[in-house]
Amino acid sequence: MAPLLPSARIFYLYIATAFVFSVVTYLYFSMREEGARPEGISRGIVGYIFDPQIWFHKSAKQDYLYFFFNGLIYFGVVAQLLVSGHVFFEAFGAGLERVFGVRETAVFAPSLLTAIAYTLVVALATDLAVWITHYLQHKVTLLWQFHQVHHSAEVLTPATVYRMHPIDMLFTGIVGLALLALAFAGFSYLTASAPKDVTVMNVNVVVFAFYLLGYNLRHSHIWVSYPPWLSYILISPAQHQTHHSIDAKHYDKNFGLIFAFWDWLFGTLYVPKGYEKLEFGISREEPNPFNSITDIYLKPFAKAWALLAPNSIAGPLICLTIAIGAVFGGSLIL
Ligand SMILES: [Zn+2]
Ligand SMILES: [Zn+2]
Repeated sequence: MAPLLPSARIFYLYIATAFVFSVVTYLYFSMREEGARPEGISRGIVGYIFDPQIWFHKSAKQDYLYFFFNGLIYFGVVAQLLVSGHVFFEAFGAGLERVFGVRETAVFAPSLLTAIAYTLVVALATDLAVWITHYLQHKVTLLWQFHQVHHSAEVLTPATVYRMHPIDMLFTGIVGLALLALAFAGFSYLTASAPKDVTVMNVNVVVFAFYLLGYNLRHSHIWVSYPPWLSYILISPAQHQTHHSIDAKHYDKNFGLIFAFWDWLFGTLYVPKGYEKLEFGISREEPNPFNSITDIYLKPFAKAWALLAPNSIAGPLICLTIAIGAVFGGSLIL
């Protein structure tokens, strides 16, 4: 049950702190004049935070429903990831021994310092994996067919984070595991023992702090931006909201999850100068292609096949069968 799991992004504690930040945001904007603040502020604190036009929007209702359906196939995806993690670790471990030789003793004895270093490397590796895959999901047309599902949300609520096509989740998950396995194999090799990161409630402390400090507001209408200098280091909720914006000046910007310096480094950072009124979705001109849960699951396959083999009508079915086989094949191997 996601709201009770500290590793889930909608864990009740993360939702509670997001609520506190929403109240502070309301108080901050209520002291500013109209034009420099969101329109919803004039509806009062409850009207602003729990705006029914957002929480009961057709797109939001689709997200709630989709969240439950995704829960059903979650184990298939996780099973596939568990297999991949194991395979990557074995490969990297063997690779290090082949290149640098088998080590009998540690280069660095395990200590608090190695634990802190490993904790940071785990957070950086996870974050870099998200940046790389997110960049590719936007730039590679085939991957965009699946990532479009996330961007088709017309309003943002914390549930929108789960509006991800299983293929999108698998891609990010597998690249993330590859980088984590590389970090694990590297630290295992150097310290001659299995490294452990510093955790709170079994979650990496950096990731825990990130989730606790308003993570859920990035999928919301609550505008929380950081001072410009901090927006070069950490991605603010407002920066992720601009990533969802339909405005051309925001296209392909702010791919980052925790850290903003990947975007800064690769020229895809967008730092808002003040409050911006945003519209969310894929396109202003074209209608939203995802009108039902079935559309969300199946249309990306049809669109992907139309790209690969435009003249074949059996394509989407073959594509879907391969995907189901790949996901559930993982559970059989376990
Ligand atoms: Zn995106
Ligand atoms: Zn998002």
